[in-house]
Amino acid sequence: MTGKVYLVGAGPGDPELLTMKAHRLITSADVVLYDRLVGAEIIALIPEAAEKMYVGKAKSMHSLPQEEINSLLAVKAKEGKMVVRLKGGDPFIFGRGGEELEELVQESVPFEVVPGITAAAGCAAYAGIPLTHRDYAQSVRFLTGHLKDGSTELPWDELVHPAQTLVIYMGLTGLEEISQSLIRFGMVPSMPVAVVEKGTTSEQRVFTSTIRDILAVTKKNDVKSPALLIIGDVVTLQNKLEWHGKY
Ligand code: SAH
Repeated sequence: MTGKVYLVGAGPGDPELLTMKAHRLITSADVVLYDRLVGAEIIALIPEAAEKMYVGKAKSMHSLPQEEINSLLAVKAKEGKMVVRLKGGDPFIFGRGGEELEELVQESVPFEVVPGITAAAGCAAYAGIPLTHRDYAQSVRFLTGHLKDGSTELPWDELVHPAQTLVIYMGLTGLEEISQSLIRFGMVPSMPVAVVEKGTTSEQRVFTSTIRDILAVTKKNDVKSPALLIIGDVVTLQNKLEWHGKY
């Protein structure tokens, strides 16, 4: 009998941010395929007897191409296994979850999707930056700073509208281009920006600056991936609402 694939969001890092459903599935899986962004404390929940497979995408490390991950999920499920495909954050937000499911549909493998706390929500909460606020931002946009061909081509003219918050995933490498383009398209150079490194983990670091100076700040502090950019007037609240590691 065919097993099932569970596409599970592991949240941004803090294991207590797992959903109860994610926890139940991780602790009872036969096979777990996980990414680089899934933290060690969550990996430790996988049962001894389960088959653990790292399929991450760290640039320098050896890892499986996306097509092979897709077909591996189907193969393992067809062996009758309960397969958990564990992804950082939420599987449907910059997580290629859709691509993996398309293959399962094609192979007639049953699946379920378990949402997770996406980095935007987790990092904002743990940094003390509300993504919307009646006085500052009526909308929030999640963007990726890294496109398929390696370029950063975003709808800049829309991104400089007032009263919105921009959350940029994978924005560290393209930060120079991102900040320059936003200013070129009319964003005030003093627009507040936060960068959250390893958000929600015990190693979280938060730096605030302006769109003009944020690149220098990340360089000076040697900010590393995973890091999330939050751009907008809501960032000014961080000063007042910061709580993580404080109380
Ligand atoms: N599916 C994931 C995103 C995967 S893309 C989600 O919903 O969160 C990977 C990017 O997410 C990273 O480059 C970084 O920008 C962001 N990210 C993920 N976890 C993070 C964390 N703990 N702290 C800061 N940024 C994080």
